[in-house]
This record gives sequence, structure tokens and C-alpha cells, in this order.
Amino acid sequence: MFAIEARKLGYRVHTFSPESDTPTGQVADIETTASYADLDAVRTFARSVDVITFEFENVLSATVEAAAESTLVHPRGEILHTTQNRLREKIFLSTNGFPVTPFRRIKAIDDLFRAADEIGLPGVLKTAGFGYDGKGQAKISARGEIDTAYAAMNGQDAVLEAFVYFEKEVSVVCARGIDGEFTSYGVIENRHANHILDVSFAPAIVSEQVFNEATELARNIAETLRYVGTLCIEFFLTKDEKLIVNELAPRPHNSGHLTFDACVTSQFEQQVRAVCGLSLGSSEFHRPAAMANLLGDLWKNGEPDWAAALRDPNVKLHLYGKAEPKPGRKMGHLTAMAASADVAAKTVTDARNRL
Ligand code: AMP
Repeated sequence: MFAIEARKLGYRVHTFSPESDTPTGQVADIETTASYADLDAVRTFARSVDVITFEFENVLSATVEAAAESTLVHPRGEILHTTQNRLREKIFLSTNGFPVTPFRRIKAIDDLFRAADEIGLPGVLKTAGFGYDGKGQAKISARGEIDTAYAAMNGQDAVLEAFVYFEKEVSVVCARGIDGEFTSYGVIENRHANHILDVSFAPAIVSEQVFNEATELARNIAETLRYVGTLCIEFFLTKDEKLIVNELAPRPHNSGHLTFDACVTSQFEQQVRAVCGLSLGSSEFHRPAAMANLLGDLWKNGEPDWAAALRDPNVKLHLYGKAEPKPGRKMGHLTAMAASADVAAKTVTDARNRL
């Protein structure tokens, strides 16, 4: 989706990935297939482009440093280093005064028993690195569950977080330009199924105060990071209207995919504009909108019936071109606009049910 927007603006795209025939590779001018650890390949790639950005934050620091020797990299390697590790990210957020749930670093099982006493249970134990969509996570409700939860971390560095009894989950997708210009898509409401984002809709059903606080927090986080590009901040919203930052995604985010159809400028175009040093576009919504994810599970009886979903003329289909539909793998999404966000959410879920 980034490459499509870049091509619309007349840019040529060169993508670098450990895999071949990737969704980006299918629309890019050139696809380099090499490991992120192959620094010679990274340097050759970097010399061939004017600016580098990411669609995924788990790129090694050494890779980003090698790339930055010869070209611009946005967001900076230092930001990826912070956001690709839950512990570093939480330390960054808490030391800068942003609201996070109490957390402790876990390096050994004794740390976990102590942390459980200090911050209380239930808690969620998460690997510090390489976790997404609930992978590498275990909820601990009682002390008797500590041994099993710790064993599931396989000796990796982890974080214990106090469990948040949230009312809903929301996100703010925003963009910051090279000169500090800032824009956001307001507050998007997110519903998860099995820890994976299922449906997003905008505007979120939240008070004006929550809307303003969430967008101000996003602006301040982007400022503090001196961020360039599209950034997503995921929040928990508690019953007493407190916002807690769950995590940052230093890239266009799944909850912002609805902006591709619903906004004057999509989150992907904002990313292109920001990293290329252009002014940001308007983030205004044409109408309230919703998005439903299409996971690989939908393929269990063969190719889903796309024609059935598209029978509603308000529904748009996006398929990413991923080779293999595995359970839990995000293969595409549906979007729709309507007079209200909840009608749009019903439209996309009804369409998905017809698949
Ligand atoms: P994450 O990978 O950290 O985004 O977690 C995936 C999902 O697990 C979140 O979207 C929440 O639904 C749930 N979750 C994660 N951390 C917590 C927590 N501390 N308290 C309650 N639910 C959580």
C-alpha cells in the first residue's frame, strides 16, 4: 500500500526483504531478496535509493546503521531500536511521563515472583522482543501459574505488565514531517479477536475529552521522538476514561488501513510525503469508516467467495498478495464508509460473513 501510494506520486520503489515475491515486491520496480544480516546487500541497496523507510520494525540495528551510511533513513534507527523492544519502549514512555501500566523487567524466574508481589496479579508476561498479535504472551492470574508462564518465554528477556481492565482499545495514527508538521486521523476504535485486530472503525465512540487527550499524547510522543513518518499509538481506555499507552508502531498500522479509502490522504501517502520531505496531506475523513481484517483461516475451505462480499457496492476489498494463507495470518481487509462508524462496522462484518 505504501508502494502503490509512492508510485501514484511518481516515485520509483525498490524493496528489500528476506523473502521474494512479497506484497511490496509485486508492485515495486525492483525487489532485492537478501537477509537483513547481509550488510553488503544492505549497503548496495542503500546506495541505490534516496530514502529508506520500513513497513515492519524488527529490523536489526546493524542493518539500519549500514543503510544510514549512504542514505536517509526515516524513522531513525534509534527509534526502531526503542520500539522493537517492549522494555525499551516502556522505559522511554514512562521516563518521559507518558501513561503506561506498571511493568517490571524479567530476566529470571525470581524477578517474576518479585514483580508479581510488587505490581500484583493478574498480569501479562510478554517477551521483550519480537512479539506481535499476542505472540509471546501469557496472562498470569495466580502465583501458581508463574512457572508455566515463565517456561513459555524460553529464557528470553521479558516484561511483566499489570493487567488493564480496559473498556475499549483505541489507536491514534498520526504523521510528522521533516519540519515538525503534525497531523492525525483522530481516534480509531479497535476490536480484537484472539489477540489479533479484527475490526477497526473511526471515529471511535469516545468523549471529546478522551479524543483531545489521545491526540495530544500522540503529538507529544511524536515530538519527543522527533519522529518522521507515520506512527501509531495503541491505547487502552479504562472505564474511568483513563488512557494508557499499550504500544507504539513506528510505521503505518493495521488500524489505519481504513484511511486508504476513507481519507483525503491515506496513512501510506502520509508516510511517503513525510519521508520524502513533502508537506503532509489533509487527514480529513470523507465519511465515517470501518475495516475488517481477512485472516488466513477464511481459506480453510478454499478461496473465499469475494463476489459475495462485493455484492454491497459500499464494500472495498484489499488483498495483499501473500503466498500462503495460514491461520491467523493477515491476508487482506475489507473497508466501507457509512453515515456512522457503527453502520460502517456492521457493513464490513456482514460482508465478511458472506465470504
Ligand atoms: P500487544 O501485543 O501488547 O498489543 O497485546 C495484544 C492484545 O492483548 C492487546 O491488544 C490486548 O487486547 C491484550 N493485552 C495486552 N496487554 C494487556 C494488558 N496489560 N492488560 C490487558 N490486556 C492486554
